[in-house]
Amino acid sequence: MHLLIDRLAAGEKLTRTELACLLERREGEHRDYLFARAREIQHRVFGNKVYIRGLIEFTNYCKNNCYYCGIRRDNRSASRYRLTEEQILECCRAGYELGFRTFVLQGGEDPYFTDGRVTGLIRAIKAGYPDCAVTLSIGEKGRASYEAYFAAGADRYLLRHETANDGHYGKLHPAELSLRRRMECLRDLKDIGFQTGAGFMVGSPGQTMDCILDDLEFLRDFEPEMVGIGPFIPHHDTPFAACAAGTLELTVYLLGLVRLMLPRVLLPATTALGTISPGGREQGILAGANVVMPNLSPGDVREKYLLYDNKICTGNEAAECLDQLRQAMSSIGYEVAVDRGDAPGHSKTEGSEL
Ligand code: SAH
Repeated sequence: MHLLIDRLAAGEKLTRTELACLLERREGEHRDYLFARAREIQHRVFGNKVYIRGLIEFTNYCKNNCYYCGIRRDNRSASRYRLTEEQILECCRAGYELGFRTFVLQGGEDPYFTDGRVTGLIRAIKAGYPDCAVTLSIGEKGRASYEAYFAAGADRYLLRHETANDGHYGKLHPAELSLRRRMECLRDLKDIGFQTGAGFMVGSPGQTMDCILDDLEFLRDFEPEMVGIGPFIPHHDTPFAACAAGTLELTVYLLGLVRLMLPRVLLPATTALGTISPGGREQGILAGANVVMPNLSPGDVREKYLLYDNKICTGNEAAECLDQLRQAMSSIGYEVAVDRGDAPGHSKTEGSEL
């Protein structure tokens, strides 16, 4: 087992059977060894720095109906909101002061936010904070829209592929959404020049080890600059209300594996990971993750952006509790960087807006 881990750490491409073997035998000693090697790589590439991103959940309106997601269109109980441009800029102002140099605009697929509104928003943030990166996480759009966002100055785009297995994709999404279209979006984003993020949920209903192998092989071949991996957590107003959540154990192990496969990847220890276990994000960092995304959304909307139940939103994952986060990171040997934290070798230089 150590040999397989060493080969992966040396940049070797493992066969599917070898990857399956690593997935099956993930207990005790192997696990510790995998994490140690993943940390070693993380240190070599990033030192002891952890990057922070200020997450602004700016709308929970969504035209999609993904079975797992709490803000799906058919959830009549969701109390919908959208932030104004002024509110969003106020989040950035507060965030900048706290030390954030990346703002992540995340939302449902909300038709109110036309390309004109989105590009206006990007330009306003870039004008006010030219030394900051802007990340978008607003779903599937046409190539022309992505091009417009990039031209307006957006640097990164997060679009989890959710699962690289076509049959599984069909179990998580209604028929109008397809894996083929998702992948097309990801290719467009990368091609346009975004630092591009893919990723998936761990333990989503119907996920098998075969699906996870598809995910790992896809990530290895696509080589995204960012990978978001968090446990699936049921939301009470979705078709998956009664399903079990993904585990901390498997999620953290997959973070380690992805660090070994993609040494330079920006890899968050997600809010979902912190939600299923109090020390979840720290365990994620110790497995090879190097990013955390504290919540910068205004206090009164945080509980409305509920993708899943019991989402943490008042503890040290909140942006205003950055000092607690700094302490938590320093207690495990890491330092929170005040830095854009671009993917190595991929930075658009400051103020290079077109
Ligand atoms: N609308 C955007 C942003 C989605 S929210 C988009 O389509 O990309 C960001 C991520 O939250 C999703 O990609 C999904 O992987 C995750 N998510 C949604 N519901 C979840 C749940 N019930 N448990 C855990 N993660 C969930």
